Amino acid sequence: METLGYYNGEIGVLEDMRIPMNDRVCWFGDGVYDATLSANHIIFALEEHIDRFFNSAVLLDMDPPISEPALAELLSSLVRKVDSPSQLVYWQMTRGTASRIHSFPEQAKPNLWVMLRPYSLPDIYRKVGLILLEDTRYLHCNIKTLNLIPNVLAAEKAKQAGAYEAVFHRSERVTECSHSNVHILKNGVFYTPPADHLILPGISRAHLITQCGKLGIPVSETPFAVSQMLAADEILITSSGSFCLSADRINGEPVGGKAPELVRKLQDALLEEFYEATQVKS
Ligand code: PLP
Repeated sequence: METLGYYNGEIGVLEDMRIPMNDRVCWFGDGVYDATLSANHIIFALEEHIDRFFNSAVLLDMDPPISEPALAELLSSLVRKVDSPSQLVYWQMTRGTASRIHSFPEQAKPNLWVMLRPYSLPDIYRKVGLILLEDTRYLHCNIKTLNLIPNVLAAEKAKQAGAYEAVFHRSERVTECSHSNVHILKNGVFYTPPADHLILPGISRAHLITQCGKLGIPVSETPFAVSQMLAADEILITSSGSFCLSADRINGEPVGGKAPELVRKLQDALLEEFYEATQVKS
């Protein structure tokens, strides 16, 4: 199989799967998701992603139809069914299947979805461009919900500007990007916005903080301003799909590029961790 779709126990080629129109994802985007990568048919940082998934579910008052270990086992067994050893591993849970009323349906049980498709890690050492956008999202950005319209619009704006990502800011305060977290390095210190309700607590962000600790780089989880980001030594963008990238322009103007060795060390450490965990290198 090249791709795989799973829906409440049914398995098939992703493109052939069909879901009921009354799944609440269709009416409200009512659900939560998580995603990571596999290599060598082994899923990276699976427990951390499953923990966050369950936490998102609690915050939306949803009761997963499966335990954490059973979900880990299910996902691990599914990645072995797909031909490519390197995949995007994505799963989501929706509140159930019921006719369209806003309040929670009384009898509906959550639906569990999995999507697997081949994925190659991009060149993480390339420099990327960013654009700045006002963060017009709501105050629940810590929950990984399926409601991603502002993120979709921001990603499209970035694409049209020839940039990799859009960096959101609420007034002067930098929050995160459309599908990544953002951080800066200044005078040897790593600054990252605090994991509050304004950002998703990224798993790659957490890994980067751990690597900073190992490399003796001080970490400050405090908000920073757009002006501080523009004057930073380096601007880093993290996500599970590309670990850690550094930016060399924002809105077309040059930024960062003043601590390339430090960036390289962090990127190398993250890649090493991934290859070790997935037994690509032992
Ligand atoms: N912020 C947002 C809004 C995201 O959608 C994502 C990833 O999907 C991230 C941050 C990065 O999170 P992670 O490192 O867990 O992939």
